[in-house]
Amino acid sequence: MTFEELGLSAPVLQAVKDCGYTAPTPIQEQAIPHVLAGRDVIGASQTGTGKTAAFALPILTRLQHTGRPQALVLEPTRELADQLAEAFRTYAAHTDITVGLLYGGVGYGQQADALKKGVDVVVATPGRLVDHFYRGNMKFKEVKTLVLDEVDRMTDMGFLPIVRKIVNLCPWDGRQTLFFSATMPQVLQGFAKWCLTDPYEVAIARHEVASTISHAFYPVGLDQRDELLLALVKQTNFSNMMIFTRTRKEADMVANMLSRSGWGKAVAVMHSDIPQKERMAALRGFKEDKYRILVATDVAARGIDINGVSHVVNYRVPENPEDYVHRIGRTGRAEAQGDAFTLLTADEVDFAKSIEIFLKQKVERRKLEGFPYVYTALLDEDAPPLRKPRPAAGGRRR
Ligand code: AMP
Repeated sequence: MTFEELGLSAPVLQAVKDCGYTAPTPIQEQAIPHVLAGRDVIGASQTGTGKTAAFALPILTRLQHTGRPQALVLEPTRELADQLAEAFRTYAAHTDITVGLLYGGVGYGQQADALKKGVDVVVATPGRLVDHFYRGNMKFKEVKTLVLDEVDRMTDMGFLPIVRKIVNLCPWDGRQTLFFSATMPQVLQGFAKWCLTDPYEVAIARHEVASTISHAFYPVGLDQRDELLLALVKQTNFSNMMIFTRTRKEADMVANMLSRSGWGKAVAVMHSDIPQKERMAALRGFKEDKYRILVATDVAARGIDINGVSHVVNYRVPENPEDYVHRIGRTGRAEAQGDAFTLLTADEVDFAKSIEIFLKQKVERRKLEGFPYVYTALLDEDAPPLRKPRPAAGGRRR
């Protein structure tokens, strides 16, 4: 299928061409006709699948410039909101549609001015959006399309009550609601039922790791985790690397450790305690190759569109198997070759098993050559391939 066949407008098709997209991704192919038809959509799809264009392109095709908010996109974090607004502006480049961006941590002035001047699409984080409503800057009455993106993350961050309020501020009559969430726990199923009408369901799950990605677990004793990380970074020929940690403290500690080991100027950190401006600078610097290593907590990095990462390191095994697939998927984008290392200590064996069950495959255990391993029983677990027990020779088992 081609983009032309999906029924998008000529200016939007021109933008798609400018972006160099040759064919729609599966989620785009499935969702675009329904969004164009004005139907509610519920999508279980992660970032990296082309989800943004799946809703942005048809929304832009349907919009007419009035200067009053007609499409509202909610995002859990400022970085995501920024990224989404940027994507909308790119896809709207050949139209007269205007895009406003509202998020916290910065002054109200410019955002209020933009709203006053007139915007058709508003991309916002929930808290700041409601602040603008109370200040009389944001009007909801003409919102025809509401996009709730990364809803599971908004829930994790405690935004559900405020998102509910926002849904109620938007008109119910004739509103189109698009709902995207990587996971769909029970609480969200109820929420989706409440805010969607007869939704079309799209599910593009990523239970697979692209064949271009080589990924493995690196078992190690707890005391040697840091040492092994440094050795891996040192011995790897990488162009850029993302290192994921579980906590903010760990992210700072890993970044400091790398800095002390000679990577000083090449390392940037991203987590939610770091001021917004610095986070944006870290992200921009990493994308522009100013920093070669980005240390990030999953919360800060999930959903961020970073392409062409040559290496991903999980400092700890992710607790959620979907996060594993998602994180290491950053290396395999656009068919680029990628490598992903996951350090594995004894306390994380259960998480490692969950990942293998999720992927329906055993993940290879690797050892770093020349590393002075201190013995741990984990090191004995040398990747026996998953196989069914064979009956003993001579027939049936007793
Ligand atoms: P997303 O899942 O929206 O975060 O998109 C992930 C990346 O895929 C972004 O860098 C998009 O620019 C890119 N992308 C989206 N749609 C396509 C497409 N049809 N062909 C190639 N790349 C795409």
